[in-house]
Amino acid sequence: MPEPATDAVLLAAAQVALNRHGAVLRDIGRVFADAGHQLYLVGGSVRDALLGRLGNDLDFTTDARPDEMQRMLRGWADAMWDTGIEFGTVGVGRGGHRLEITTFRSDTYDQVSRNPQVSFGDRLEDDLVRRDFTVNAMAVSITPDGPGEFHDPLGGLEAVRTRTLDTPMAPEVSFGDDPLRMLRAARFVSQLQFTVAPRVVEALVAMAPQLSRITAERVAAELDKLLLGADPVAGIDLMVQTGLGDVVLPEVGAMRMEIDEHHQHKDVYQHSLKVLQQAIDLEDEGPDLVLRWAALLHDIGKPATRKLEPGGGVSFHHHEVVGAKMTRKRMRALKYSKQMIDDVSQLVYLHLRFHGYGDGRWTDSAVRRYVTDAGHLLPRLHKLVRADCTTRNRRRAARLQAAYDDLERRIAELAAKEDLARVRPDLDGNEIMRILGIPPGPLVGEAWRYLKELRLDRGPLEHDEAVEELLKWWNARADRDV
Ligand code: ATP
Ligand code: MG
Repeated sequence: MPEPATDAVLLAAAQVALNRHGAVLRDIGRVFADAGHQLYLVGGSVRDALLGRLGNDLDFTTDARPDEMQRMLRGWADAMWDTGIEFGTVGVGRGGHRLEITTFRSDTYDQVSRNPQVSFGDRLEDDLVRRDFTVNAMAVSITPDGPGEFHDPLGGLEAVRTRTLDTPMAPEVSFGDDPLRMLRAARFVSQLQFTVAPRVVEALVAMAPQLSRITAERVAAELDKLLLGADPVAGIDLMVQTGLGDVVLPEVGAMRMEIDEHHQHKDVYQHSLKVLQQAIDLEDEGPDLVLRWAALLHDIGKPATRKLEPGGGVSFHHHEVVGAKMTRKRMRALKYSKQMIDDVSQLVYLHLRFHGYGDGRWTDSAVRRYVTDAGHLLPRLHKLVRADCTTRNRRRAARLQAAYDDLERRIAELAAKEDLARVRPDLDGNEIMRILGIPPGPLVGEAWRYLKELRLDRGPLEHDEAVEELLKWWNARADRDV
């Protein structure tokens, strides 16, 4: 966590950050000034400048209307897009920057359908008070000379200094107008590592059910940003504690199960958060959304499979199978891509397989299947399984890690011998057709799959041996069919 900063230090940091974009800011300031319009850098861009994390995406607000902006910017922009035009946003690409300029909003909310009636305003202050959080409601005027006056009518700077998320209006009103803001709070808790003001927490608890009015796509976009943030555990925990989780990700909070009488199983929810953090700590190529989703969801099958055993103790048989199904269902409801759903659910499905490894007595065949079933997910599966160890018993933890080291060694040995990354049958489709004298069709696939199973069980076969096995299978099959 960074050192607490003073206002002066924060403003100086922002100045430095903005100077790095001085050229483009002066340029666009000139375009708007020449047309007689005001222009302000606003929202996340001002916040991120204060926090020293400003990138090349810059957000602006102006009194110019969208059609005027399009006219003004046409000759200046390298590229222009109008996907946000009905909400007053014009997007512009210029020299590696992505600039989004939105006309001042002065929306009112129809309190029945709660759809915003998009209307444009003339005053900066009216625009700022309609924004989600005070830290996102600051502005810096942009002129032909570059960044100018700092506008902070809602105490945004103080909120940045104290690392607090609070709403400009009463939170109940704000969240009633747009419930997505509640999820954005959890997202910013993760991304910025800020905490939520007490009155905002109260409003989240009271208003959480309203989140159901938001489309799956918008929810998923916020969840991804949350999971990719600096502290997803804090963001998820806020969701679960406030009831937001019950609306969009109920399986996670449902893992809060009472600790059994023998204290053999810690709370599955706390365990999952710890696994998520440990998986993040094992990342070596930047934030990995698939791994983080899988770590969060790997045990969601546990509540449904929990059984008290006659001699005391608890079991969760097949929770990985049930969990993989639940993962698919939830991620489908959130409209994730097929690839994403397949990857996350396959990791959930495979997360327990290793625990059959015991004292390193897996056959070569079992090792091959592990690798083949994981496919391109293998590096993530290694991380997930290693992260999925939260025992406080040091000896037990060390034993598990050593067993996994051993499995990775076995995989490397076999891989060196056998090109494990792409286990294929020893004969290809053309050879199968030639040897059996059959045309292309489902039979070829059947033979191919038979040979692949054989390959997994026995490793690579000599060519003659493979032909012999194929013919044996073919004759047995013919006998069955007559
Ligand atoms: P990031 O770009 O990292 O996702 P951001 O804060 O810039 O974060 P955007 O979604 O780009 O978020 O929105 C830009 C600004 O628009 C915000 O900083 C905020 O001022 C305002 N804003 C965005 N969404 C909402 C909303 N649902 N309600 C009110 N204001 C919003
Ligand atoms: Mg932004």
